[in-house]
This record gives sequence, structure tokens and C-alpha cells, in this order.
Amino acid sequence: MEKQENVKVLIIGSGPAGYTAAIYAARAGLYPVLFTGGQPGGQLTITNDVENFPGYPDGVNGPQMMMDLQKQAERFGTKVIYGLVTAVDFSTYPLKVTVDEKDTYIAESVVVSTGATAKYLGIPSEETYANKGVSACAVCDGYFYRGQDVAVVGAGDSAAEESTYLSKLCTKVHLIVRRDEMRASKIMQQRVLNTPNIEIHWNTETEEIVGDESGVTGVRILNNKTGAKKLIPVKGFFLAIGHKPNTDIFEGQLDKDEAGYVKVIPGSTKTNVEGVFAVGDVADKVYRQAITAAGTGCMGALDAEKFLAAKEMEVVH
Ligand code: NDP
Repeated sequence: MEKQENVKVLIIGSGPAGYTAAIYAARAGLYPVLFTGGQPGGQLTITNDVENFPGYPDGVNGPQMMMDLQKQAERFGTKVIYGLVTAVDFSTYPLKVTVDEKDTYIAESVVVSTGATAKYLGIPSEETYANKGVSACAVCDGYFYRGQDVAVVGAGDSAAEESTYLSKLCTKVHLIVRRDEMRASKIMQQRVLNTPNIEIHWNTETEEIVGDESGVTGVRILNNKTGAKKLIPVKGFFLAIGHKPNTDIFEGQLDKDEAGYVKVIPGSTKTNVEGVFAVGDVADKVYRQAITAAGTGCMGALDAEKFLAAKEMEVVH
């Protein structure tokens, strides 16, 4: 049955940004409603140990951290709803948000914290072997390839982290790097270089993932300097080439940059629409850290609180 509800602060997304916004809005007595989206907990649920979040000297497990954040948000009265926001209408005020294509929520303010999603290479065999050996999450799927050979494509911190993780489960990890250097931080690169069962293929591109009815059996690579081609036998193929912001539902509603990230007024979380605030990775292609996402989540809640207080003053006068 369709339903309609009114909300003061509606939060879209359940990563560190969304939950931090919820904690602040709830403690300000604004009874936020948070929609988890299709991947409750966000990207940290597919990561392993988070070692760089201040306050955890021994690191913290990503999924555990997200469960703790949810608990903390709920403790102060956040209503967490397992649902996917499928459409928004920010053309009139109050704002309208549709969930699971049927329920309509009328919101006085909206905090957008929909994050970003893993990118794919765009070759047809990725689709052919999706869930049959091709994965964008080593922590989720690595276990299936224990004792076997796998390949990872990418050269940033994600690729470094995923290959190191897989090296503990798999016999051999082939890291496919398209240039002659990695973008990953020095410490992460060092970990990769010091791991004997990771072989780096420099100046190398993925031509095709090959397989049969059992799934992936290998990857055909091309050296873009020498033109040499090679087929490496692997059972798993992991993508770690960056992310795309989850902003499709805001098309025509919010201003975005050329890469699709929501534009905010510098120094704030304000978007081009009054009462709509963007926080976390959806508006950040530079820092993309759990701690910066949480920080902007806090800013979003404070901006929403201020906005609502000003609106109330308008009504009084
Ligand atoms: P990045 O954007 O940093 O890196 C993407 C990598 O993929 C680049 O090296 C790029 O190559 C390569 N790439 C992109 N497209 C292709 C393609 N079509 N074929 C082959 N290679 C390709 O993304 P990450 O996901 O690695 O990191 C995102 C952010 O998250 C960063 O700020 C990173 O520091 C952070 N992060 C931090 C972690 C931690 O601290 N524990 C763990 C994971 C991520 P090229 O270099 O040639 O452009």
C-alpha cells in the first residue's frame, strides 16, 4: 500500500556521512529518517580493517564500524528504514522523495549521502562473467578463490589493498597496472612490492576476460609498450579502478560537476536547492575517506538545522 509521511530531516544513504548526519540531527531533536539504500552501511561494509579512522589505535573492522554507527544514530531517535530512494522532486518546497517506487515522503530538508559505486572497465566479458569470477569487491568475494590464482586491475589504494588482501587467500595475485607506476600511497605500494605472491604487470591493459561455463578461466592482457599479448590463467578477476558518484536520481534536480559529483557551495554542504545538502563521497572526489565523509555528514546536519531554524523564524514573523 502507498503511504505518505512528513519528515524534518530526510537522509538518503547509510555510509559514515549519512549516519553522522543522523547522529547530529537526532541529537538536535529533529527526528531524522534515514534510508539505507541498496547497500546498507555503504562502501565500508565491503572493506576490511579501517586503520586510519582516528580513535581506533588497533584499527576497526569496516562492517562492525557501520553497525556501531547505526546503533549510535538509532540511540538518539533516528528512524532507519531499509529502502531505496528511487526518485526525488526538488522543484517545489517542501521537498518530495519517493522510496521503492511507491512511498512518498515530504521533507523539510534532505541530506544527500548516496556515496559512490565501483567502476568497471566496460568490456563485454565483465558482464558475461559477472558473479562467475568477476567482482569489484575482494573482501566480499575473495574467499571463493582461496588457493587459486586471481587478477586485480587498478593501481590506486584500492588495488593495492585488494591485492594484498587476496594475496593472503590466493596462491598468486596478478596486478594489472596500465602505466609504469602506481597511484597508490607509498606505504600501500610498499606492501604490494613486499608481498612475494603478487606479480605486477606494468604498462598492461586488460583485453578480455576469458572463461567457460564454469566461470572465469583467464585474462588476456596486452603490454601497451611492446604490443605483446599474454593469457594468464586465473579464476577470479577483481576490479579496483575507482568509483562513480551515485547521483543518477538527482539528474535535472541538483547541479553536478562534469564527473557527476553533486556541487556544493565551498565551505558548506549547501547544494543549488534550498534545504538540500550533500555530504560524503557523493560530493567529494578528492578526499573520499571515511573520516572526511563523517566530517561533512556533521556539517550537513548542522546546515540543515540552521536552515530549519531560519524557516521557523519566517513562519513566526
Ligand atoms: P583511484 O581513483 O585513486 O585509482 C584508480 C586507479 O585505477 C588508478 O591507478 C587508475 O590508473 C586505474 N584505472 C582507472 N581506470 C582504469 C582502466 N580503465 N584500466 C586500468 N586501470 C584503470 O581509486 P581508488 O579506488 O584506488 O581510491 C579512491 C580513493 O580512496 C583514493 O583517495 C584512495 O586514497 C582512497 N582509498 C584509501 C584506502 C585506505 O587508505 N585504506 C583504501 C582504498 C582507497 P591511473 O593511475 O593510470 O590513472
